[in-house]
Amino acid sequence: GTMTVGETAKLLHKDASEVIKKLISMGVMATINQELDIDTILLLAAEFGVEVEVKIPVEEDRFETVEEVDNEADLKERPPVVTIMGHVDHGKTTLLDAIRSTNVTSGEAGGITQHIGAYQVEINNKKITFLDTPGHEAFTLMRARGAQITDITIIVVAADDGVMPQTVEAISHAKAAGVPIIVAVNKIDKPDADPDRVKQELTEYELVPEEWGGDTIFVNVSAKQRMGLEELLEMILLVAEVNEFKANPNKRARGTVIEAELDKGRGPVARVLVQHGTLKVGDAFVAGNCFGRVRAMVNDKGRRLKEAGPSTPVEITGLTEVPQAGDPFMVFEDERKARSIAEKRAITQRQSELGSNTRVTLDDLFKHIKEGEIKDLNVIIKADVQGSVEALKGSLEKIEVEGVRVKIIHSGVGAITESDIILATASNAIVIGFNVRPDNQAKATAEQEKVDVRLHRVIYNVIEEIEQAMKGMLDPVY
Ligand code: GDP
Repeated sequence: GTMTVGETAKLLHKDASEVIKKLISMGVMATINQELDIDTILLLAAEFGVEVEVKIPVEEDRFETVEEVDNEADLKERPPVVTIMGHVDHGKTTLLDAIRSTNVTSGEAGGITQHIGAYQVEINNKKITFLDTPGHEAFTLMRARGAQITDITIIVVAADDGVMPQTVEAISHAKAAGVPIIVAVNKIDKPDADPDRVKQELTEYELVPEEWGGDTIFVNVSAKQRMGLEELLEMILLVAEVNEFKANPNKRARGTVIEAELDKGRGPVARVLVQHGTLKVGDAFVAGNCFGRVRAMVNDKGRRLKEAGPSTPVEITGLTEVPQAGDPFMVFEDERKARSIAEKRAITQRQSELGSNTRVTLDDLFKHIKEGEIKDLNVIIKADVQGSVEALKGSLEKIEVEGVRVKIIHSGVGAITESDIILATASNAIVIGFNVRPDNQAKATAEQEKVDVRLHRVIYNVIEEIEQAMKGMLDPVY
């Protein structure tokens, strides 16, 4: 039969209250004894990051059991998935291109490089997957949609320019996602390159090199002259080894859409990163609200593949519609099931768009605190001068109300940008502007995503507002 909320909670190793809260955030009002349908359970599992498998559909929308799979013994090492971030013009694109072309060995000859949103290189008989869209906006936009696909972040800093505003943003975005950071100090071929200054500057952001007692890996490179690339790749493998990135290749595939478009000749095309299981030609799948059957599969070297395992990026055809970047991708036992899940997903999505909004705002902060949903109030601070940033940080971090604390996940000087809003969305944060305002794009995105943006001119007012909100004493703003 189906499963109740209580049974589902047990399956997912969560408290029923946690599951109910999650359901509410998805726009589903539920009680503990309510029966859930299979796609809701799968969505829940995905939300909690728990692997579940559906067993034998008995009849339409009925299923026998859902059980957790992936014993430790089934997990196999998989290539790390790497994103490159950093300030504009510090060499992200050049580095991505250099790594790709350095690695086109004679064995690969014959294939034509395809841009499929990600590519793989091989070193010491191990593979590394690079996402092809540099920059933290793309990274965090994916995360805001619930897709966590990066294992390691390379922060590129030009040795002749040093730490710049987008460097700091990139660090905040990587840290907010809990992804390990490797620093690539680029452009060391330039006469005015000063790698030590970069190291010095980054200590302020808790990125301290090993030789100075920290644990951040720094690699000096020149993307242009192709120096240090091998060492960078080796360091990526080292971090991967320490973190033991694993997946079970022997099950139906699941992953994330990284790009999708309508191709004139081939119809809807999706570029997906397989994250669990193995994707095979002929597989029926759901991608976001779309479904299909894998007609053909091509890798980044233009090779046709019959199957693709964990961490492999592939371009697939055979969809009925074009999904969105960041959409989850999942294989099902047959096309009928896939279609039914895709249709239900479309409905759930509409419901949650219309339904309750779980984004934290100062007005309902106290409610979230009381219900135990919030332990840290995530805050992004933007101010006109560094002095104000520091003053605000210092005061806000001292506030503690009933065990709840303020956590500054990003701060900087300048207007509130769209990148700040996207980070707030992904991390459920509020944004404080001190003597600065959001630019137009940021304003529009904040409205759309319902991010709470508070603008102030007096430090005392900021502190008071946050404190009152945490104590549940804030007068609602109408
Ligand atoms: P992005 O904006 O971070 O993607 O930066 P790009 O990759 O577009 O590089 C910006 C500029 O810096 C380009 O003119 C590159 O040729 C140059 N550049 C990138 N890497 C290096 C390097 O290692 N050495 C030197 N001298 N120039 C570089």
